[in-house]
Amino acid sequence: MTKKESNKRISPSLNAKAILIDEVDAICPICTKPLYEEKNSKFIVVHDFAHIYPLNPTANELIVLKDVKKLSSDVNHINNFIALCKGCHKIYDTDKTLEEYNILYNLKKKLIVKRKLKTKFIEYKIENEVKEIIDILDDEDYVLDNETKFEYTLKVIDEKMKESSLSLRKDIKANVKDYYSVIKSKLAEIEKLKISQSEKISLEFKLYYLELKDKTDLRQEDVFEEMINWLEKKTKKSRNSCKIVVSFFIQNCEVFE
Ligand SMILES: [Zn+2]
Repeated sequence: MTKKESNKRISPSLNAKAILIDEVDAICPICTKPLYEEKNSKFIVVHDFAHIYPLNPTANELIVLKDVKKLSSDVNHINNFIALCKGCHKIYDTDKTLEEYNILYNLKKKLIVKRKLKTKFIEYKIENEVKEIIDILDDEDYVLDNETKFEYTLKVIDEKMKESSLSLRKDIKANVKDYYSVIKSKLAEIEKLKISQSEKISLEFKLYYLELKDKTDLRQEDVFEEMINWLEKKTKKSRNSCKIVVSFFIQNCEVFE
């Protein structure tokens, strides 16, 4: 029987390394230790790029990882690498367990989706008026009279967000309670100035939601986070305000069904 030739170690390119560090925010995704240490204005590399599926599995790894899904058929592909601090890398590579593999596999799967979504931001535009909506959220002088209060039922959130945690549902409901009428009336104001504009804005939220729903298998809570990321990047407004606006579009039926 001929022995299987071992895979050659190919270190990620400089660009790939930059991407791998960026995707974990320069923090070890297992223990949260920084991946660089600063000393005398110099940055010392205290990380490695670990193969998630081993480069050359040991006899034990071949048994433990039998039948697992892989992130790439090429063991040296960027999708099979993850940046870890040196300690966690060493532990991961010693007597690897299926559980350890699955943790990194699932984590990296999410990071790949996130990376791909970043390139999608450009395709999904947002009307300028969304920035105006966000601005009134922080405007202490913006007052609504009772006549412009809009009806809504918070049950919508519980029904749509069944798969999410209670704390997230409570958070979204609190946003809706405080801001639903404010945003709805601002949309009505926008509509008066420009016919169909509020519909266009709603549609943009719907379209980005559908992109997330159809092209990724993210959990509900992660879809919510990604909607906020998108809005935050596009408007350059505070994350909290973006969260309020996304909450509004859940209640208003564009996001989740
Ligand atoms: Zn670590």
